[in-house]
Amino acid sequence: MPASPSQSVLSFEDARRVVEDHASQRSPGASETVDLMRAAGRILASPVAADRDIPPFPRSTRDGYAVRAADLAQLPVRLALKGELKAGPLPGSVPITLNPGEAFSIMTGAPVPPGADAVVMVEYTSRERDSVEITKQIASGENIVLQAAEANRGSLLLPRGLRLNEAAIALAASVGKSRLKVYIRPRVAVLATGDEIVDLDAEVGPSQIRNSNSYSLAVQIQEAGGDPVLLPIAPDEPVRLRQLIEQGFHADLLLMTGGVSMGRYDLVEPVLAEMRAEFLFTGAKIQPGRPVVFGRVPYGAGAFSGEGRLPESNKYFFGLPGNPVSTMVTFELFARPLIEALAGMSARPLTFLHARLKSEIRVKLGLKRFLPAILSGQYENTQAELVPWQGSGDIAARVRSNCFLVIPPDREHMRAGEWAAVLLR
Ligand code: AMP
Ligand code: MG
Repeated sequence: MPASPSQSVLSFEDARRVVEDHASQRSPGASETVDLMRAAGRILASPVAADRDIPPFPRSTRDGYAVRAADLAQLPVRLALKGELKAGPLPGSVPITLNPGEAFSIMTGAPVPPGADAVVMVEYTSRERDSVEITKQIASGENIVLQAAEANRGSLLLPRGLRLNEAAIALAASVGKSRLKVYIRPRVAVLATGDEIVDLDAEVGPSQIRNSNSYSLAVQIQEAGGDPVLLPIAPDEPVRLRQLIEQGFHADLLLMTGGVSMGRYDLVEPVLAEMRAEFLFTGAKIQPGRPVVFGRVPYGAGAFSGEGRLPESNKYFFGLPGNPVSTMVTFELFARPLIEALAGMSARPLTFLHARLKSEIRVKLGLKRFLPAILSGQYENTQAELVPWQGSGDIAARVRSNCFLVIPPDREHMRAGEWAAVLLR
């Protein structure tokens, strides 16, 4: 039986930094051009610039009167009414200018005429067809967004590496981009391991467990910008396990679940060691998910046989613990940033929100915990509370949760009302 690699168990922050460092050295793959409507959630491969000034003209931000502010210094005042400006094409070809002593009635979104430096709301005593007597200005401010105030023509609006959300799609639409260049999703292989694990179409024996990890991972991989490739379930037997691992390395990244604890039949690490894997860490001081493994193998012609030829590149792998909630948590904490990098996304720090604890928490010291929790209360009074669970196999508890409470390794007691970090999921 192959031997295990030597152990390196890191703090959560150190383990995360190792992944981030390796992620930052990966370059994304090829790109494709897709319709704007299909680009949401994809990663932009080619930057988008402003095709004209934004806004393209000085834009009124409210309904009111376009005036010269100086004309309202002394009230009341009678201004000549030169017409009405509404959003849309300008009437006629006469260039519209505002002279001293004049006003235009103007609508939200309409171009403010040259000469006007404010759009005001006013009270007036008499309004005739061609003049208005203004007695009072209501609310202050110019209410104009100047031409190019939001962006100059030619300036960068959407950088490469941006994940396209609805705002980015809107900005692309606003500059006339009906198609966008995006990166092709990296292929992420998923290998569930364990003699007791059976797939969904098989008859399940009394002591067997249905494979759920491959399916949660497939969802998370897609959310992170990858394309999941599910492999057949691997038994706890080194020859077949190795075959399937080798198959997994044809993808851009390999995620395995189960078989990474210290048990006699936890063969993932020994088999990888036999394949000349470099282990970047073999555990993290977290709960759930402590046995999580991260590493890489030399990949290319003859790579796993040690024929002495130079490997063409490295392929990364994660060995995620098999308990379903551990699998989900360790994916979020470690696999996601690497997949995002392979997908071409610019790195972003892991950030937590904060909420007050609804009730006290007591845990043992030493591990950073990411425990299924629920945000309750409303608006500014949101509170976080642990969901009762039977441990990291309890998928139903995870379904009842909507976040993870983050408990630092040096806290064994947290009081009700205290602020706590929360990882939204
Ligand atoms: P392991 O990490 O292999 O020691 O597995 C830990 C626990 O997770 C065991 O109770 C396994 O039966 C369970 N488990 C492992 N792999 C899967 C899977 N693919 N789907 C559901 N449960 C699993
Ligand atoms: Mg197992």
